[in-house]
Amino acid sequence: MTIGRDEIGQRSETVRRANLSAIVRELHERGPSSRSELVTRTGLTRSAIRGLTGELVLAGLASEEPAMRLGTPGRPSPVVCPNPGGATVLALEIEVDSLAAALVGLGGEVMGLIRVDRPRGHSSVEEIVGDLADLAAAAKAGRPSGEKVIGVGVAVAGVVRRSDGRVSMAPNLGWSDAPLGEVLARSLGASVPISVANEADLGVLAEHRRGVARGVDNVLYISGEVGVGGGLIVDGRPLSGEAGYGGEIGHLPVNPAGAACRCGSVGCLETEVGEGALLVRAGHAAAGGRPAVEAVLREAADGSPAALAALDHVGRWLGLGLAGLVNVLNPRLIVLGGLFGRIHPWIAGTLDAELTRRALPAPRALVRVVPASLGLDAPLLGAAELAFEPLLSDPAAWVGPRDAIPDLESA
Ligand SMILES: [Zn+2]
Repeated sequence: MTIGRDEIGQRSETVRRANLSAIVRELHERGPSSRSELVTRTGLTRSAIRGLTGELVLAGLASEEPAMRLGTPGRPSPVVCPNPGGATVLALEIEVDSLAAALVGLGGEVMGLIRVDRPRGHSSVEEIVGDLADLAAAAKAGRPSGEKVIGVGVAVAGVVRRSDGRVSMAPNLGWSDAPLGEVLARSLGASVPISVANEADLGVLAEHRRGVARGVDNVLYISGEVGVGGGLIVDGRPLSGEAGYGGEIGHLPVNPAGAACRCGSVGCLETEVGEGALLVRAGHAAAGGRPAVEAVLREAADGSPAALAALDHVGRWLGLGLAGLVNVLNPRLIVLGGLFGRIHPWIAGTLDAELTRRALPAPRALVRVVPASLGLDAPLLGAAELAFEPLLSDPAAWVGPRDAIPDLESA
């Protein structure tokens, strides 16, 4: 079989695109790296790295700083840095009790973050999008006008169809089958792609890229405020399911004799471990919100039996729900976000014991439970990561084609 010149050219272009993607991903996820480090991490040759980083510098996506001697033998290697202003994304977040916007540059630099409280309760999609547009304008104010916004990522506390950002269900916002993606596109007048995803799916993405789960390939994330959300990284990749609805750990049916859930079912994990369940069991009003949770923790510190029993209940049921997932998914890390991160010191003992009692010994022995490290902003940072994905997968679309002779050395 003979291979024609065109075919060689095409193959070489495919290899170049994949190699550019590997380098931009390295720079974005790990920050400034010397050319030698890039050689080691990508497996490409020195000359391929030199050529490709040169292309990224020309396209404004990276800059090169003079070589630094690091006390190692051999020629010093120039340092390649991601250029935050060369590609920025707009990240937006819709939570039940707050809205947020930020501009995030390539490499993960957050260049303006605004979060405002919103009263819990129902609002129309148009109202919330209007508020988000104002926040986005405020986040952009003061940024250089030449800055290139290449995408918009949106985290929302609801169940989302990834293909068009339609929110099939967000009971705490009062949305059912809400065309969030469409309304956002109209309002922002954006000529760039808008990607919408569930907030916990993005929380785990952020913790995986930049937080406590960095470098861990199998991660289970559960976060709670009013509702309980979940997100999964399996074999290094976010698990979203057929349409993006996957990962709803809060709606795992756990108690056939349990309470009605806002999703319409009965006895979901959320009804046993959510904020409302904790507050009611501790003798507070279900709608007390974060200040009431703080009060429960103070009462627990003072030895209140009701507060301690309520925390114990949450720890046990969380352990029961997570044990099943540990058996199915064999994660290395369980990351507790939001409410669960804050109450972790109070529930750690019960939760660990329940996991040990219910999960299979082998996967149980491998998994650790830790609080999230990025705090409240994890979903917003994850939304930025989502918006960067097209650039990271194929930076050549931004860099443009290369006319030079194919560099077969790098293949
Ligand atoms: Zn439910």
